[in-house]
Amino acid sequence: MVLLWIGAVTESFRSRQLVLQSNDRELSSLASALAEQTARSLQGVEFILRRTSGWALDAKIAQDSRAAADRFLREEIAGVPQVRQLDIVDATGQRIATTLPDSPAANVSKRAYFKAVQRASGNALVVSEPLVSIIDGRPTFAMATRLEDEHGRFKGAVVALIEDGYFLDFYRQVDADEGTGITLRREDGAPVVSSDNRQRSGQAGRPVLSARKQVPEFQLTVDITRDEALALHTWRVSTIYDFMGTGALSLLVVGLGVALMRRLQQLGRFTRRLQSSQRRWRAVFDNAPAGIMLLRPRGRYVAANPAFQRMVGYSSTELQNLTATDITHPEDVEITRQHIERLLQGGLQSVRFEKRYQHRDGYTVWTDVRLARVTVSEQASGKDPAREEDVIVATVEDVTQRREDEQARRQLESQLRQSQKLEALGTFAGGIAHDFNNILGAIVGYGELALQALADETPEQRYVAQVLKSADRARSLVERILTFSRSGLTTRQPVHVQPIVQDSIEMLKVRLPACIRLEAELNAPKAHIEGDPAHLDQLVTNLCVNAIHAMPGGGTLRVVLDTLDLDAARSLSHGAVEAGHFVRLAVSDSGVGMAPDLLERIFNPFFTTRKAGEGTGLGLALVDGIVREYGGGIDVSTMVGAGSQFELLLPTIDSHTSQPREDEKACPYGEGQTILLVDDEEALVRIGEERLAELGYEPAGFVSSDAAWQAFRADPQRFDAVVTDQTMPGITGVELARMIRSLRAEIPIILVSGFSSPALEAQAREAGVNAQLRKPLRRAELARTLKHLLPD
Ligand code: ADP
Ligand code: MG
Repeated sequence: MVLLWIGAVTESFRSRQLVLQSNDRELSSLASALAEQTARSLQGVEFILRRTSGWALDAKIAQDSRAAADRFLREEIAGVPQVRQLDIVDATGQRIATTLPDSPAANVSKRAYFKAVQRASGNALVVSEPLVSIIDGRPTFAMATRLEDEHGRFKGAVVALIEDGYFLDFYRQVDADEGTGITLRREDGAPVVSSDNRQRSGQAGRPVLSARKQVPEFQLTVDITRDEALALHTWRVSTIYDFMGTGALSLLVVGLGVALMRRLQQLGRFTRRLQSSQRRWRAVFDNAPAGIMLLRPRGRYVAANPAFQRMVGYSSTELQNLTATDITHPEDVEITRQHIERLLQGGLQSVRFEKRYQHRDGYTVWTDVRLARVTVSEQASGKDPAREEDVIVATVEDVTQRREDEQARRQLESQLRQSQKLEALGTFAGGIAHDFNNILGAIVGYGELALQALADETPEQRYVAQVLKSADRARSLVERILTFSRSGLTTRQPVHVQPIVQDSIEMLKVRLPACIRLEAELNAPKAHIEGDPAHLDQLVTNLCVNAIHAMPGGGTLRVVLDTLDLDAARSLSHGAVEAGHFVRLAVSDSGVGMAPDLLERIFNPFFTTRKAGEGTGLGLALVDGIVREYGGGIDVSTMVGAGSQFELLLPTIDSHTSQPREDEKACPYGEGQTILLVDDEEALVRIGEERLAELGYEPAGFVSSDAAWQAFRADPQRFDAVVTDQTMPGITGVELARMIRSLRAEIPIILVSGFSSPALEAQAREAGVNAQLRKPLRRAELARTLKHLLPD
């Protein structure tokens, strides 16, 4: 605003200068024109004066009639309006001829101009000061020329009185402007004719503009003056208007300024409200636990919240240069595209589906995605008009964990099913084993009797001994099956490893195909493990049978047994072992070998590559189970087409803690004590009776527990010990034991069962059973137990 005013003031000042300059110019050119014009008029007068003075000197005026002279003069000035009167005066100033003979004759000798003419020489022309006409009293001025005789003596003058009005009229015509004055002056400054009112009215002292021009050929100047105030009048008016305009503009500016301030304040409040609302939404967006993002329908990400950024591992700015397909798992790109299309086609407000994202670090993120289409209107800006745009809003939930849990649950379920299957198998096997054990009992029992009956060192005795050995293996196998189906129920005892491995190999030799060569290297004569001999046999047999199967076209089966001391824990292909002493059983073949994916699964129960009916897939599962139970590990090395090697490491125990192998021949004998024997299998009762009798006892056999109980109750004191089967219809072994115990607290009771379990063992102990033996019952075991319970 200050600028506005400064501008207005300088502008007015400048225009004032311009006005003054143009006035100066105008006055100056006006003065020139007037001087020129004045000169021309006066030249006319001068011409008349010269001619008249020529005539006056020439013609002898005195001689001539006064009337003729006057006529001449009148003729001279006829048609020259600027000359009012023409006179000829003599040296004394007396009028001798005039154009106005009727006017009173005045002597001009006192006039200043006459004196000047008198003083001058030659044909000088003199202009008088302003005069007042003697004749009519009107203002005028005179021009005079000197008349002299041939000797240069002053003779008189020709005087022309100039029509003052002529010049005034003429000047007034030019003097269009009010306040402009025109003055004709003599050289000495005396005004001759003036149209200047002020001069006349005495308003001098006010600033004026002026111009002065010399009238050519005359000693006169034309002065033009103009009142400055007048010259500046228009300028002043326009300046006032200008200032009024500027003032109005200033008011407008002030008004606008105030309005603008109000608007800005309003805008400020609005912005603050907007900002706080934006902050609130921002906080929701930033802290939402689910991923939230905005996506252009077929383009890039617009925004993504931190949760989504964490989910996919890209920062917000990185995402703005990516499209949905860039970070989607390649297999889900198509489905994502389809869902987006479906959404854009209309109809649906939102879609939900599961998809995978590819995390920046390469892993896959499973997500539950919900997409919604939102139409946002873009703010209209400069060029383009407001437009509506479809944006996709997505919420993304990471369900990777949920899926993993689900998977784990499914796996667990399948494991459960597997174990249920195994349990069913176990029950089934247990049932068979029970019956099978009874059959085995008969074989062992009669076998042992036959062995007793046969003479030593005969082939028959060897055969029967072999039968018994096989039956013994069968018993172990049955037991192994039961152990497998009810794991962890085995008895532990120190086992001398090498003889058992030796036995197993001997047994294998019988069924070894001719094309397979067997190499055995047994170098651990002292090694003992804590365990079960049957287990050890299982290990050797299973590994060797697999090896044989792997070599359908023949090859070499190699069994190596040695010991190994480890200073540090060692991890194996299957499991790991701590530092310590181990016996190592390595079974290798030159067979087909195994591919890596096969190798991964061979220890799974029921996994087999063999035809149904040929393989059960339980062999290696069993091996694995046993080795684990013993705290050992398995190392498998194999190469497709080159063969495999299974190396088992089993922790050993100090050999001196082991008991000497039982001496079958040295059985302790009884002293005729009466033994109550119960079994639902008649054959087993018969064998048992014979065996007891042979061992020096008095057997009392019963084929039913009920009958046995009747007999016992009838005469409790008749018996010295009880040997009872566990599984029987009606009263079971444990129940019978409890009942017997109720009648006789001290009588020794031996329970015989096809299989045992911790639960059964606990029940039996609680019922008062003194010892538990497993079927098939072996003579030496029975003899020792009876001897132990019935000391002499
Ligand atoms: P099964 O003998 O009843 O098939 P196993 O558990 O003993 O069950 O063996 C599982 C699978 O492991 C076999 O079917 C076979 O494919 C593979 N396998 C085991 N031992 C060998 C070996 N020495 N060479 C090649 N393959 C073997
Ligand atoms: Mg097998």
